[in-house]
Amino acid sequence: MATDSGPSTDESAYDYRSDDVARPGLVADLEELIEGEVRFDEYSRQLYATDASIYEVTPIGVVFPRSTADVAAVVSYCADREIPVLPRGGGTSLAGQTVNEAVVLDFSQHMDALVETRPDDRWARAQPGITLGDLNAALADDGLKFAPDPAWGDKSVLGGAIGNNSTGAHSLKYGKTDAYVEECEVVLADGTVTTFGEVTRDELRARADPDGDLEARIYAELERVLEEEQDEIDARYPDLKRNVSGYNLDWVVQELREDGVVNLASLLAGSEGTLAVVTEAEVSLEPIPATKSMALLAYDDLIEAMTDVSDILEHDPAAVEILDDVLVDMARETAEFADVVDMLPGGTRAVLLVEFYAETDEAGKRKVADLLADRTDGVDAQADPTDGGVSVSAPVRAFDALEAHEDAQREKFWKLRKSGLPILLSRTTDAKHVAFIEDTAIPPERLPEYVADFQALLDEHDTFASFYAHAGPGVLHIRPLVNTKTVAGVEQMAAIADEVTDLVVKYGGSVSGEHGDGRARTQWNRKLYGEDLWNTFRDLKTAFDPDWILNPGQVCGDVDMTEHLRFDPEYEFDAGFEETLEWDNDNGMQGMVELCHGCGGCRGPQETTGGVMCPTYRAADEEITATRGRANMLRQAMSGDLPDDPTDEEFMSEVLDLCIGCKGCAKDCPSEVDMAKLKAEVTHAYHQEHGSSLRDKLFANVDTLARLGSALAPLSNAASAVPGARTVIEKTVGIASDRTLPTFERESLQDWFADRGPQVDEAAADRKAVLFPDTYTNYSHPEIGRAAVEVLEAAGVHVQLADRTDSGRPAHSKGFLEKSRAAAEQNVEALAPAVAEGWDVVLVEPSDAVMFQLDYLDLLSGAAVETLAENTYGLCEYLDRFDLDRNVEWAAPGEALTYHGHCHQKATKKDHHAVGVLRRAGYDVDPLDSGCCGMAGSFGYEREHFSMSKAIGSILFDQVDDSDGETVVAPGASCRTQLGDRDAADAEPPHPVEKLAAALA
Ligand SMILES: Cc1cc2nc3c(=O)[nH]c(=O)nc-3n(C[C@H](O)[C@H](O)[C@H](O)COP(=O)(O)OP(=O)(O)OC[C@H]3O[C@@H](n4cnc5c(N)ncnc54)[C@H](O)[C@@H]3O)c2cc1C
Ligand code: SF4
Ligand code: SF4
Repeated sequence: MATDSGPSTDESAYDYRSDDVARPGLVADLEELIEGEVRFDEYSRQLYATDASIYEVTPIGVVFPRSTADVAAVVSYCADREIPVLPRGGGTSLAGQTVNEAVVLDFSQHMDALVETRPDDRWARAQPGITLGDLNAALADDGLKFAPDPAWGDKSVLGGAIGNNSTGAHSLKYGKTDAYVEECEVVLADGTVTTFGEVTRDELRARADPDGDLEARIYAELERVLEEEQDEIDARYPDLKRNVSGYNLDWVVQELREDGVVNLASLLAGSEGTLAVVTEAEVSLEPIPATKSMALLAYDDLIEAMTDVSDILEHDPAAVEILDDVLVDMARETAEFADVVDMLPGGTRAVLLVEFYAETDEAGKRKVADLLADRTDGVDAQADPTDGGVSVSAPVRAFDALEAHEDAQREKFWKLRKSGLPILLSRTTDAKHVAFIEDTAIPPERLPEYVADFQALLDEHDTFASFYAHAGPGVLHIRPLVNTKTVAGVEQMAAIADEVTDLVVKYGGSVSGEHGDGRARTQWNRKLYGEDLWNTFRDLKTAFDPDWILNPGQVCGDVDMTEHLRFDPEYEFDAGFEETLEWDNDNGMQGMVELCHGCGGCRGPQETTGGVMCPTYRAADEEITATRGRANMLRQAMSGDLPDDPTDEEFMSEVLDLCIGCKGCAKDCPSEVDMAKLKAEVTHAYHQEHGSSLRDKLFANVDTLARLGSALAPLSNAASAVPGARTVIEKTVGIASDRTLPTFERESLQDWFADRGPQVDEAAADRKAVLFPDTYTNYSHPEIGRAAVEVLEAAGVHVQLADRTDSGRPAHSKGFLEKSRAAAEQNVEALAPAVAEGWDVVLVEPSDAVMFQLDYLDLLSGAAVETLAENTYGLCEYLDRFDLDRNVEWAAPGEALTYHGHCHQKATKKDHHAVGVLRRAGYDVDPLDSGCCGMAGSFGYEREHFSMSKAIGSILFDQVDDSDGETVVAPGASCRTQLGDRDAADAEPPHPVEKLAAALA
C-alpha cells in the first residue's frame, strides 16, 4: 500500500485553510523543519477540536507528517518550548483522548503505508496511519488478519488501536491490541527516535540508568515499578479479559511472569499518546477463520440473558453480544431495522448473539447445536449435537433460538446488534445519549447483579439507557440520556459517573473495557486503582515525558470530566438567519446542526459507509471535505467558536462549497446528518445577504435557458462549438471548458407527445400516469422520454405529459429556495388534483423524482404536497413497485449491463428497482456499489470544481472498468455526462429506460 493512495484532487485548486493563521512564527519554524504540511489556520484548528466524544478543545495547530524524521523534528521543537503534542489517527475516540490544546500530528493522511509483511511468520510492519481496514485488505490474500476488530476499524488506524489498546466483538478469541504489538519505532518526548520491543529482565536492568538519557531513565523507572509495585498491581488491577483503564502494567507483569520478557511496546498499548509517539509498528497476525456460525438466543428478560452469559462462555464462542428490550423496541420503530427486528421470536425482551469459529460448516453447525441443546427446550437445531460435546447443563433460560450459517443471515444478525448506535444517536433534542460510562467492564458472572444495580442507579437519577454490546467479556455499552447544556445535566452526569465507578469497583470491574480513559474517565482511575497506583502512573508518565508535553492530562493527569464539553451550559447557538425549510425533527435546523457526534463514519471507504457518504472525503482525503468536518465547522460557526458567520464568503467557499449535495450522509450516516439540506439553508441565507453570481443564476434558471436553447436549435448548439467559445465561457461565466455542454433538440418531448398523443386508452389501462418531462429530458434528450412513454404504454399504462418541465431541482441545489418553493407550489397545484383522481406521477430523472418525493416536503407542508410526494415515482421504481413490467413481453436481449444508480435514489433507498426491472427484461445486470458520480447537477460544470468532480468520478470509472458489463447504464443525466466525459468513453451511456425500450418484443 502506497502512501497517498487513492484518487486525489488538484491540490492547487483547494488549500483547505482559512486566512486566519495562529502563531505564524511557530508555523514558519515548523515548515522549515519538516516535509509535511503545517496548518495553524482557524479552520484547521477547529476541524481537529473534536473527536467522537462529548468534548471539544481547540488545538494549537495541525501537522501532517510525512516521515519519522518529521515527527521527531516536531516533537523535539515542541519539547524545547514545552508545547504539548497530540498524535492522532482517525479521531474516532469516544472518551476525549484525541482532543487537546496541543500541536496535533495527524498520521492518517501521509503515514499510512504497509511497510512489509512476512505471511509465513504471521507478521507485518506498518505506519501508524494505516486503517485497520486497509491493513486487513492487504493481508486477506494470505489468509491473515490483524485480529483486534474495533467496530470502526475501517475508519480508525493502527496508531489509534495501539493508543487505545483497541479490540472488538471477538475479543473472547483474540484479546486486545496489546497481544499483537511486537515492536514499535517511537519518537520519545525529547524527539529521540528509538525502538521498543521485547527485552529480558537482565537487558532491561542493563539499559536502565536513572541518570542517563531519556530512554535509559524510562527503563530505570519501569525496572523500579516491576521491582516495587508488582504486589499492588496484582492486588488492584481487575481480573478481566478487557480493561483499558490506566497504564497497561498488569499486561507487562503478566508477560514477564509467563515469558520472562518485558516489552515496552505493550506498555504503549492503551497509553493514549501520553508516553511516546508511534511511527511504525510490527504486529503479529492471526489466520482468518475458515467458517463461522451463529445462534440468536431469545430471552423474555434482560437479567435472565445476563445470567446465561457465563455458562455460554463454556462453549468457547468467538463472540457473545447482548441487545436489550429498549433497543429492540426502538429498532422496531425504524424503517432501517424493522425487518431485522421482525425475525425475532414474539415476546423477546433481550437477545444474546453467539458466534463460533470452526474449521468446517458442519463443525460450526454442531457448535450451535451443542449450545442450543444445553439451554433451550424444544428448539430443533439444524445439526445433531456432538456426542459428549460441551455441556454445562445450563438451566433453560432462552425461550427460543435462531441459527445463521450463511453470510447473508449472519449479516442480518449483526445488523440487529449494530442497530443500537444509530438509533441512540439520532436524537436531535438537547438531551442526548452521551458517552461517559459507556464501556464499563465487569466479570461476566457478575453481570446480572451489576445490571440490576445500574438500572436502579439510573432510575434514581431520573434517566434511562439501553444495555448492549460485548456481554461475553463483560463490556456493556450504556449511554444515559443527559442534557449537558444545563448545569443540572452536567451535575447529573458527574454524579452518575462517580456512582458507577463505585459500582464497578464493588463488582471487580473497570471503568473502561474498550474506549479508554481520555477526559471522561481519567479522574476515576484514582478511585479504581487507589492512590499508590495513581502515583505510579504519574511517575511513569514523568519518566517517559518529564515536562508532560505528550497529550497531557489523559490517563493520570488532571482533566475534569465536566470541563471542555462540546455542549455545556455556556453553549449558545445563533445561526445568524431564520431557517427557510421545514424541519420536522426536534429543535429544527439547530438540532440537525448539532446532530453529528463525530464518529468519523463519513471517513470510510465506500463499502463500509453504506455506499455514498462521503464522496468528497474519499476524493480529497481531507477532514474538511468529510461530512464530519462540515458539520463541526457549521456548528462552530453557529455557536461562536469560529469568528466567522456561516454565510461569510470565506466560510462558504472553504467549508460548504465542496459539498456536492449528494444526500449520501442523510442515508448513510448513522445519525442521518443531512448536510445537503443544511447547505441549502446556508446557501439561501448567503444569497439573501450577498446576492448571487451570474453563473448561479444561470444554473438556477436552466429551465428557461433550455427552453430557449431548444427553440433556437441547432443554432444554439453551434454557438458553443465556435472555436474559442468555451474558453470565453470559462473565463466569463466560470464553466469548465473541458466539460461537454448539453445540446438542445428542436423537437422537445412535449412537442413530440402533443403530435402523437397517448396510445393506451384510459379506460383499458391498468394505471394512469402523468410523465413529468424534466428540463433535461424534455429539451436535450427527448429520446429518453419517448422510450419512457413506449415502455409505460407497453406495460399497459395510460400516459399523459405534464405541461411543466421545471421540478425546482436546479434552483434548490443552488440554494435559491424561494424559487424552488415557487416551482414546488406550481407543480403541486398542477398535479395534486390529478393525483387525487388516481393519477400517478412518473419521472425519468432521479434527482427530479427525489425533488418531488423528498425535497418538496422540506419546502411545503400540507396534505396536497404529501399526497403528491407519496404518489410520485422514478420510472423503474414505478414499473417495479406495481409489477407493471410483468405485463410486458420482452425480447430477452441477454446483453450484459453495468448499472450505476443515482446518489439521490440511493439516499431514498430506491436504487434497486431498476436492477430488478432490467433483469426481468432479459439483461444480465452488474449493479455497481458506487457512490456519487461527482457531477452533482451543475457542480461538475463549474471551473473551480472540475478537479474535485473528476476525482470523485475516477472512483466510479475504476468500478466501471472492473465490471464485466458490455454497456454502462445510468438513470442520472449528470452521471451520464460524467461517464461520457471519461477518456475511455465514446459517448454518453444510455438511460436504463432506453435499454428497456430496446428490449420490447
Ligand atoms: C461508532 C464507534 C464504534 C467504536 N467501536 C469500538 C470497538 O468496537 N472497539 C474499540 O476498541 N473501540 C471502538 N471505538 C473507539 C475507537 O474507534 C477505537 O478506539 C479506535 O481504535 C481509535 O482509533 P483512531 O484511529 O480513531 O484513534 P484516535 O482517536 O485518533 O486516537 C486514539 C488514541 O491513540 C493515540 N494515538 C493515535 N496515533 C498514535 C500514534 N501514532 N502514537 C501514539 N499514540 C497515538 C491518540 O493520541 C489517542 O489518544 C469506536 C468508536 C466509534 C465512534
Ligand atoms: S456526519 Fe455522521 S458519520 Fe460523519 S462523523 Fe458525524 S455522525 Fe459520524
Ligand atoms: S451531501 Fe454528500 S458531499 Fe455533502 S457532506 Fe453529505 S455525503 Fe458529503
